[in-house]
Amino acid sequence: MVSRLLIDACEVVATMDDAGTEVPGGSVLIEDGVVSWVGSGEPPGGAEDAERLDGRGCVALPGLVNTHHHLNQVLTRARAQDQGLFGWLVALYPVWAGLDAEWERVAARVGLAELALSGCSTTSDHHYVFPAGAGDLLGAEIAAARELGLRFHPCRGSMDLGESDGGLPPDRLVERTDDALAATEEAVRTHHDPSPGSMLRIAVAPCSPFSVTERLMRESAHLARRLGVRLHTHLAETMGEERHCIERFGRRPLELMDEWGWVGDDVWFAHGVYLDDKDVRWCAETGTGVAWCPSSNLRLGSGIAPGRALLDEGAPTGLGVDGSASNDAGDLLVEARQALLVSRASGVERGLSAREALRVATRGGAAVLGRDDIGSLRAGMRADVALFPVDGLASAGAEDDPVAALVLCAPPRVRHLLVEGRPVVRDGRLVGGDEDEIAREGHRMGRRIAEEASR
Ligand SMILES: [Zn+2]
Repeated sequence: MVSRLLIDACEVVATMDDAGTEVPGGSVLIEDGVVSWVGSGEPPGGAEDAERLDGRGCVALPGLVNTHHHLNQVLTRARAQDQGLFGWLVALYPVWAGLDAEWERVAARVGLAELALSGCSTTSDHHYVFPAGAGDLLGAEIAAARELGLRFHPCRGSMDLGESDGGLPPDRLVERTDDALAATEEAVRTHHDPSPGSMLRIAVAPCSPFSVTERLMRESAHLARRLGVRLHTHLAETMGEERHCIERFGRRPLELMDEWGWVGDDVWFAHGVYLDDKDVRWCAETGTGVAWCPSSNLRLGSGIAPGRALLDEGAPTGLGVDGSASNDAGDLLVEARQALLVSRASGVERGLSAREALRVATRGGAAVLGRDDIGSLRAGMRADVALFPVDGLASAGAEDDPVAALVLCAPPRVRHLLVEGRPVVRDGRLVGGDEDEIAREGHRMGRRIAEEASR
């Protein structure tokens, strides 16, 4: 028996298909977790037997896709408030040294709940802190994503270049190179699901050029290709990093990555603030993706990524909330607004339109994560749908263009969110967890972390 759900009478369905089709008064039919029809009126053949979800007062978008995050950082927000990246990291590494599976579980629930309530249906997580004896950290966040119902792309990160070897992180936070590689392979073998519509995919993700050895970078690339999974790392985030690459290796960041086998359509980088025009073209030509994290880059004073140029050249480009200790929020619709605003800093003609910002947050993110089954609403795509209300205070007066209102006006909390056609948020509340309880637990754990860090 096929399960059928009709989302009907939306204010607009913004499909994010190739033509940018928008259907005023549109409806979406979902059959067994897959979109089977988008249009206005009743679907061909009717939908009498379908369950109905009232789309009135809402803009329907594909679920948003977050391409860079560190869920464990959610419980260490509002610290090192006036530091740049390196000062911020040095202040936070000792706090993260206390990470264990319970912290990870609580942080992941808070961070994933925030993302879901912002309309995000698929998220990546870049987890690179594995203190000895911390327990099954990846397993803890995977369990949280399953509980809340989000599509999840956790990256098994790693660091093996401690302070005593000239790296930035303290020695007790880094792993031995072979241990990191073995644990990464184990994570892929245990969790990765390559099938269409997959809810869980693992990527290989050593942390950054200043916390990882050349050997770990090179062997991670070999490992990922042997296992058929994607590669992710931080790149070209700050001027300091660029200097480090030139001083230590005589190469700019992207040149260094190329030398180490890290350029290609199975790779995506977080940030890319210091990609120059040539780098941007290179990313486009090779299909190398960029996770644009505008709030984090502004909060840490890193700079402004070349979002306009990346889009113009056709490089896969998505958004990342990053953090959330360098943001310090996990709201992807806010990030779309931030991308639009910051792209206009040097003139509106260089900036993104509201629709481009929404496209980067959906289609763009899907491309960055290597997914061709999510990111747009058309027949055959997985049924990840975000219904944002445009009947509230924030969008009153924006009746001419409720789609643009999502980005230009104050971003609303999602009203309904479906992943694989299953409800993750209904009427603004989580379905797979109790928001108040998740928040209480987050504050309790946040106090524990603060107390331990002050000792
Ligand atoms: Zn990051």
